[in-house]
Amino acid sequence: MVKIRLKTPEIIQFRLSERFNYFIICVKSLFYNHHLSQSYVADILLEPIFKIVDSRVFKRFLGPLFVLCCILLTGSVVIACYYVGLPYWWRKSQEVTIFLLIVGNWLLINVTYHYFKAALINPGTIPLAESYNAVGICKKCLMPKPPRTHHCSICNKCILKFDHHCVFLNQCVGFYNHRHFFLYMAYTVIGVIFIITFGIGIAYDVLWLGDSGGWEEKEHEKLHGSLVRYNLTGHLIPITEVDYDSLGISPASHNLPVSELSDPNIYRACCYVAVIIVAVLIALGSLTVWHYILISRGETSVESHINKSERKRYNSKGKTFVNPYDFGKSTNWKIFLGLTRGRTFWRHVLFPSSHKPDNDGITWTTVSDNELFRVNDHQM
Ligand SMILES: [Zn+2]
Ligand SMILES: [Zn+2]
Repeated sequence: MVKIRLKTPEIIQFRLSERFNYFIICVKSLFYNHHLSQSYVADILLEPIFKIVDSRVFKRFLGPLFVLCCILLTGSVVIACYYVGLPYWWRKSQEVTIFLLIVGNWLLINVTYHYFKAALINPGTIPLAESYNAVGICKKCLMPKPPRTHHCSICNKCILKFDHHCVFLNQCVGFYNHRHFFLYMAYTVIGVIFIITFGIGIAYDVLWLGDSGGWEEKEHEKLHGSLVRYNLTGHLIPITEVDYDSLGISPASHNLPVSELSDPNIYRACCYVAVIIVAVLIALGSLTVWHYILISRGETSVESHINKSERKRYNSKGKTFVNPYDFGKSTNWKIFLGLTRGRTFWRHVLFPSSHKPDNDGITWTTVSDNELFRVNDHQM
């Protein structure tokens, strides 16, 4: 009898050992690297995400998909709020409902306006036929860069006063759309707080007490001739021999009329809105606070990193670093919101306004340009 021994081809063995060695080097580079730090590990782990974000598929397909998701999420939350909140508040008070409709729609108009403005207007690119003072050369565009301009590797171009590339806008946040981007975030966060404030009572009734309907007037006919009392959600119900409340039974699980009016869609809508707004409040809330701090300091996201390392460098030499674009909190906000040339907070921030920033995004006034700064300050 002849025994056949299957032998792994040498090429496969070689490939496998090559892959294994590569894996070992990768692991060792993570743990034995001289420059090992938290950000280095995070960079290595996020490398696959950067590659996806950098790819053409992402730019062409995933970018618009994120924008669509953003629009659908906002739209669905608004519809759910109308579906659940409008009948609830109309039953409680018609005056309050009208007030909520005005405030809610004012917030919605601002959110929609600033989102589309931020997503659609050009964030600012270097003009080709213009002479200006450059602070360096972009190695990718091979173009002289004005101050505060940085190259976006996703859009593959230099952006004036570059802040970051936003996947939810599918474009960069830069000189011309930074104000719209911030106001979109701020109004969305205010909108979420508005929904929580006027929806917490509904969520308590529906999700906690299990009453998703509310009591309709016609049901009062059933109560004629019976002894009544208020149930957990404040509705009149007939008194029965068992005190369900004292037994800890929720209205939805006993046989009293409240459960007959239950609408499962209201329960689903409440769960959906609760999950979305909590996620948005945490994510967008922290981002808004971060950008509020940056704008107050006269920095962009990129500059906050550069200035941080500059501060360290200056400190090590016993000097103090001064951010050249920090004119003080109040002036920084006036410049950022474009509240110059007679523009007001009431008209140009509380309501949609398409005004552009004052300068051209190429030439910048700095704190050391005392003369220019004084002229600029007088114009405000
Ligand atoms: Zn560039
Ligand atoms: Zn970009």
